[in-house]
Parts: sequence; structure tokens; C-alpha cells
Amino acid sequence: MNDKSSPSEPLTWGVAATVSRDAFVRQRAGRKRPGTRHFVPGAKIWVLPVIWGDGGDQRYVVGTRRGTGGRSLIRLVMNTDYLVNYRVRPVYSPKLYAAMGQPGGPRLYPSREEAGEVVRWWKWERTRMPHLLLQERPGEMHNADETCEFCDGRDAARAGVGVEGNPYTEPSHAPAGTVDWWSTDHGMWQSGWLTETHRVVVHRLSDLGLQHIALDRRRMRARAESTARTVVGRTVAELEADGLGRNRLRFIRGDYQPRVMDGIVHAWLDETDRVIRTQAG
Ligand SMILES: [Zn+2]
Repeated sequence: MNDKSSPSEPLTWGVAATVSRDAFVRQRAGRKRPGTRHFVPGAKIWVLPVIWGDGGDQRYVVGTRRGTGGRSLIRLVMNTDYLVNYRVRPVYSPKLYAAMGQPGGPRLYPSREEAGEVVRWWKWERTRMPHLLLQERPGEMHNADETCEFCDGRDAARAGVGVEGNPYTEPSHAPAGTVDWWSTDHGMWQSGWLTETHRVVVHRLSDLGLQHIALDRRRMRARAESTARTVVGRTVAELEADGLGRNRLRFIRGDYQPRVMDGIVHAWLDETDRVIRTQAG
């Protein structure tokens, strides 16, 4: 018999994620504030498997509703753009287990391995595709608090760390220069470091793909710097009317200091929803 009360035997394996500190949506009161309508920034939530018909970036999630002191578990469909750092985690709580898998509702992951596949897919989609330019159309840049080896390598180069500072082991399973090689943790860190180090004189990069990435990063940076010059002093409502999406402009309230992101303008708001300062990446 399967003893589900044993602490070493989880009820199931789930995919957990965190509500990004970049999440910033209009609340009921009308003003924009950090978090989503139902969750505070930093909240751990559980992302359920795709079910037929939930479609696109909308997924069923289970989490603790904001303002309930951790007492109220809710399940709802939300946009996954504001979720970061997907990971496989065991589920021990019968209450959580029940909230995830009610009859007729979203199902559970069939196995720990399949949950792991989903986590690998998210990592690919969120960090590999945008940085390595593996999309047909320009994709969305990930949130600033997403774990990203490319951004780590880029920031290390900015801080003066040498290429020997790459903390990841060089892959041996894939030939150098292939997508499989560049998309490892080692390759991502390396590409962030190299494209930052040679951002001014890109022809020093002998790798064709890296030159393209470096040139694209220069275009994104020039665009962000020009956008940043135009947003200070303007209000959220005015800027929203301009149609600048999250891939160009992200609003911040308070003392949150996100890392610099390629192509993104971070805009801090005052109490009247007016931009007082910016950071462009
Ligand atoms: Zn990144």
C-alpha cells in the first residue's frame, strides 16, 4: 500500500514558481502597484500542467491569496509573464494537493520527470530563446529576477571579472559553437560575457552568431536609451496610451532596484504615477 503520510513520500511532484518583483498591475483601487491582483511579489505559487483549451500564456495556478495571512489557497488562471524561476518541488500538504487536482479540474503532472521537462522548457523559453535570438520575431525579455546565466556573464564582464570567472563547467556532450553548446549554463554565461566585453568592437568576436547577438544588443541598448530620455515626467496613463509594452518599459514603485536588462527601460514612479527616474539597459 502506498503510505501517503510518510514525509519522505510526497503526494505528488509539482512545478513551483515565484511571482516576479517586476509584476506590476492595476489593482481594484485603480492605481498600479507591485504584485498581481491575487498574489504579492515573491509569493510561491504552483503552476499546473497545460490543459486543453487554457491556451497561450494563461495557465492554472494554485497559490496563497494576498491579504489572507497565508490562509486562503486559491486556484485560478493567470498570465505566466509575471512568474519566474520555475523548479520541481514535492507536494506534501493534503490541502495543497486537493486544491491542485480536484475532479474535473486541472490534473497533476504524471511524474517527477515530466515536471522536470516542463521546468527545462521554461528555462529555454525565458532565457535561451531571447538572448540567443532563437525566435522568428523578437520575443519578450525575461523579468529582472529570473535566474539567467547570460545576464550573469554580462554583469560579470561589466564588473571587470575575467572570462575564467565562468562558474559553470564547459560542456563536453556538445560540439563548441552549436546551439546545444551555447545554450548550456556555461555557454550562456560565456555568450553574455563575450558580447558585453566586445560590445564596442564587435568584429573582435570571431563567432558569427555572437556577432549577431552583440549587434542586436547594441540596437536594443540604443533604443532603450532613446526611450528613457522621453519618459521622465510623464504619467503611466500617458505612456500606456503610447502603447509601449513590457518589452520596452517596466514601471517600478518604491526602492526596488532590478538588475539592468537588455532593451528594457525601468521607470520609477512617484505617488502620482509620474516617472521620476529611469534605468536603461
Ligand atoms: Zn538574461
